[in-house]
Amino acid sequence: MRGLLTAAGLAALAVPAQALIGYGITMYDPSCGFGCYDSVSGFMLECSVMDHGPVGAHSHGAGGPTSPECRAGDDYFLTTLAYCMNTTCDASTPRWKLEKFWSEQATGSKTVAAKWSYTEALAQIKEPPTDQYGEDDHHLTRTVLLDPETVKANTLTREYFEQAETIHSQYGLILLIVGFGTPVVISMFTRLPYMSTLSDKLKPYLVYPSLIGTYHVRPLPYLLGNAATVGQSLYVIMFAALNIAMAAAGYKSVQPNAWFANEWQEVMGYFSARTGVLAFALTPLVILLSGRNNILLWATNWSHSTFMVLHRWVARIYAAQVIIHSVAELVLYIDMESYEAEFKTEYWAWGIVATVFACAMLVFSSLFFRRWSYELFLVGHIIMAVFVIVGSWYHVEFLFQRRWGYEFWLYAACAVWFFDRMIRVFRVLKNGPRRAVVTEVSEDIVRVDVKGIRWTAAPGLHTYAYFPALSPWRPWENHPFSILPTALLQSKRDASLSGAASGSDTRSTADVEKSGGVTSTSAPQRDDQALGGAPGTGITLYVRKSKGLTKLLANHNSLLTLLDGPYPDNPTDGVLKSDRLLLIAGGVGITGVLPYIARHTNVKICWSVKASAEGLVRDLEGPLSRVAEKDVRVGSRLDVAALLAEEERTGWSRVGVVVCGPGGLCDDTRALVTAKARTGPTVWELEVDAFSW
Ligand SMILES: Cc1cc2nc3c(=O)[nH]c(=O)nc-3n(C[C@H](O)[C@H](O)[C@H](O)COP(=O)(O)OP(=O)(O)OC[C@H]3O[C@@H](n4cnc5c(N)ncnc54)[C@H](O)[C@@H]3O)c2cc1C
Repeated sequence: MRGLLTAAGLAALAVPAQALIGYGITMYDPSCGFGCYDSVSGFMLECSVMDHGPVGAHSHGAGGPTSPECRAGDDYFLTTLAYCMNTTCDASTPRWKLEKFWSEQATGSKTVAAKWSYTEALAQIKEPPTDQYGEDDHHLTRTVLLDPETVKANTLTREYFEQAETIHSQYGLILLIVGFGTPVVISMFTRLPYMSTLSDKLKPYLVYPSLIGTYHVRPLPYLLGNAATVGQSLYVIMFAALNIAMAAAGYKSVQPNAWFANEWQEVMGYFSARTGVLAFALTPLVILLSGRNNILLWATNWSHSTFMVLHRWVARIYAAQVIIHSVAELVLYIDMESYEAEFKTEYWAWGIVATVFACAMLVFSSLFFRRWSYELFLVGHIIMAVFVIVGSWYHVEFLFQRRWGYEFWLYAACAVWFFDRMIRVFRVLKNGPRRAVVTEVSEDIVRVDVKGIRWTAAPGLHTYAYFPALSPWRPWENHPFSILPTALLQSKRDASLSGAASGSDTRSTADVEKSGGVTSTSAPQRDDQALGGAPGTGITLYVRKSKGLTKLLANHNSLLTLLDGPYPDNPTDGVLKSDRLLLIAGGVGITGVLPYIARHTNVKICWSVKASAEGLVRDLEGPLSRVAEKDVRVGSRLDVAALLAEEERTGWSRVGVVVCGPGGLCDDTRALVTAKARTGPTVWELEVDAFSW
């Protein structure tokens, strides 16, 4: 098979391809020319090397007994080829095309020109040939007729092969367009007039509920992964079905076939090529879905966490295509008895590299490894992805030397990746190096004030923070955190500064139901001027220390901080348009909901924190004191069902719920809101910000 493909490659133009097969690249046009060439190229000529060994029907001069130079100067080879083309190609094939084919393909090498043009070769034929090249002929000594059946088989072989390749490109493009276009079209659909009522009715069935019980943020048992929502699952099912259809449809066989001994081999050959092309076509989409600077995030109202779910599933489908491609090739070569020869080639080795790393990525992207060490997972993930892309590139490079455009899928994938990385760098440079004040507000929560940054005070934004001084060995490490405009905390900041200065306890008991111990904290003074920002300008992050980089965050007056952001998290339009906004937070999840208080006039905030995080409640007393309705619990849990029932009883026609906090809280709220939204009459809008994807 490789020999066949290599032969096909050698017969093509030597210049780099401009597009894909069927879209800017033709393989075997005019096919009659190739059919004739294939039928005569195996004949021995006077200048052929006689002891070279057997000649294959597909020897195109690359190592057979007859060199391109030999063909270029051989009268009878040229006249036989010209006569065949003249009698086989129909009138619809323009003369210029035949001349072009002749100048590029007649000798089997684009760089070796025949001594005559096509017209000159025809002019050399004084009498039409009457006989064929026979068994007794040691070499070609006259212009001969070529066996019409052989010419036809060779012509159709090339034609069908090219048709199959065109369909591969077509189906690859369909996958890419549908994969990319579906979120855009669905988002546009929801914005059409009169769609809001339908959308309200569909959301409790498609957008909110999880496919498996109440699991979504919480992992499935045995860390099997995270269950998708019904809507996400529908995308995945649709896309998987489309992949199966694109891999299974549109095969046409022609027998006898010059390259495949039987129909099974032929269809298997097309199928293995198809799955390879489909895998290539998915590469840019897989990378796009995972990107921070992802055009889909800008063009749709889907959240980054949804795209991360799709990234994982499309990547699994991609890996399935890769594995099927490799297995199909293996089965085919074993059947064609060419496996041993293929196994020793470089293209095969690189194909194995790409396949093995794609499989490794499947395994090492499991929730188990992501939880075990997120940073190791991330670095390993990127390195393995590089091996998959490089392996794929060399795989087709050794086979086709960039003749058929397969590499363009990979270039597109690299472009998507580099675009994301470039914008990240631009964002970090635009924000500039900053000095942050880090304040421990409770046992495991720190407040990070970064002055001088002016970002929109919109809710639902996060930024990726780098603290290179904390991790000099891994300066690239960065983590996402929700953004609070420091101005929102202003009144508390002033109070806390004076409180810290006088040593008094600034706890307010008015709004806080306390049932746990209180952690007292001593905050270092935050000096806005020294940090290069006007009072109140800047952003504040509240970070709960985890096992990695965040563990190292401690009181600091001037910590070098780089910021990549802001990025939108969940869409906020729907909830903000509600009559009533219910903000539910658990622990440090308060950072995900607090910015909403400045954007809606009818807000209730419900927040529970562990007793050990009471310092966080004190730190946020300022903004909380400005919210008329609140339920803040220290050391006890929220009763979400009761909260929702109360809103329902009040009679708001549209209630927006934003929940941010631990997985259990998020999943419970999702399930409860879904149930309420299905029964009506209240319309419920839900946004879940789970601090994970
Ligand atoms: C959109 C978003 C907003 C967030 N906002 C806040 C916030 O305001 N305050 C807060 O305390 N936490 C927030 N988090 C969670 C925070 O990003 C993680 O707790 C932090 O990255 C853990 O870092 P670590 O190295 O100390 O953790 P580790 O102990 O090494 O990892 C703990 C877990 O955190 C997650 N995680 C770690 N690194 C990343 C990363 N680079 N990207 C995504 N997930 C990661 C993984 O699920 C991992 O298993 C937010 C997360 C997201 C996705």
